Amino acid sequence: MNEVRGRFAPSPTGFLHLGNLWCALLAWLSAKAAGGALVLRMEDLDPGRCRADYAARLLDDLCWLGLSWDEGPDVGGPAGPYAQSACGELYAAALERLGQRAALYPCYCTRADLHAAGAPHLSDGTVVYSGRCRGLSPAQRAAREAAGRKGALRIAVPDETICFTDRLLGPQRQNLAAACGDFILRRTDGVYAYQLAVVVDDGRMGITQVVRGRDLASSTARQLYLQRLLGLPQPEYYHVPMLVNPAGQRLSKREQSLGVSALRGRCTARELCGELAALAGLADTPAPVRPAELLEVFSWDKVPRGDITVPARLF
Ligand code: GLU
Ligand code: ZN
Repeated sequence: MNEVRGRFAPSPTGFLHLGNLWCALLAWLSAKAAGGALVLRMEDLDPGRCRADYAARLLDDLCWLGLSWDEGPDVGGPAGPYAQSACGELYAAALERLGQRAALYPCYCTRADLHAAGAPHLSDGTVVYSGRCRGLSPAQRAAREAAGRKGALRIAVPDETICFTDRLLGPQRQNLAAACGDFILRRTDGVYAYQLAVVVDDGRMGITQVVRGRDLASSTARQLYLQRLLGLPQPEYYHVPMLVNPAGQRLSKREQSLGVSALRGRCTARELCGELAALAGLADTPAPVRPAELLEVFSWDKVPRGDITVPARLF
């Protein structure tokens, strides 16, 4: 009853790096230490950025570290498909249902239009959308379509503050109208938005806990809004601290030395897992260890709450 179901949801847009392994290990430990299941979901929504070889490689890298999953694109399971590229019809059906409960409308703004509005930005670079296309008449929409313009699909948001309690960050609040405005559910090129896909998939996969990087904390309010409209249960959220370099900057894929292939070339899986365990407060020293050996010492209480500095020796 009430089995814990966690997930790790990487996007195969490049090779994994240390930060991805950090999130994956914590998601695995959190689900497994609770006696639950871990789902691996391939977030390969964007055909222009995702590649099958990255997807294959990331599964291999996660196995190398000693992680495993109960359901996923390679092992299957009862809650498939486990790759978002195969879920177009599910997202289309969700749009249909959302359209019955909120205003969805096409937005014809170009990138330049959006930035010209001079609106403030979210930390992830998203511009707060002014609602410019919300009031277009059917005739104005038809004229744009006739001129060959393709609209992105946005959902109107209420002027309401959405609250949730993050298990690591504590109480969080965000007013959708002020923080992002009406947001995109389907892009101009027809690709479904991450915000929609993640909610549909967490819902249909019965996910009870979401462990992911703190950079996604600001997406949560949008996801809670969609969950509510779709009548889906709300998982618990654990937005884990970001890893930073000794200069205090967030790790990025540009840091080649922390790419998994570089790491695999210079340390063993147990050594790397030991480093991650020490960063997570699960070990006093970075002694080599396997993920399974961490299960008995794992507790979220031990995991630091602030950004975590990766020691220089790992670069
Ligand atoms: N696919 C997203 C990423 O790789 C993570 C989505 C999530 O965990 O909600 O950044
Ligand atoms: Zn617009």
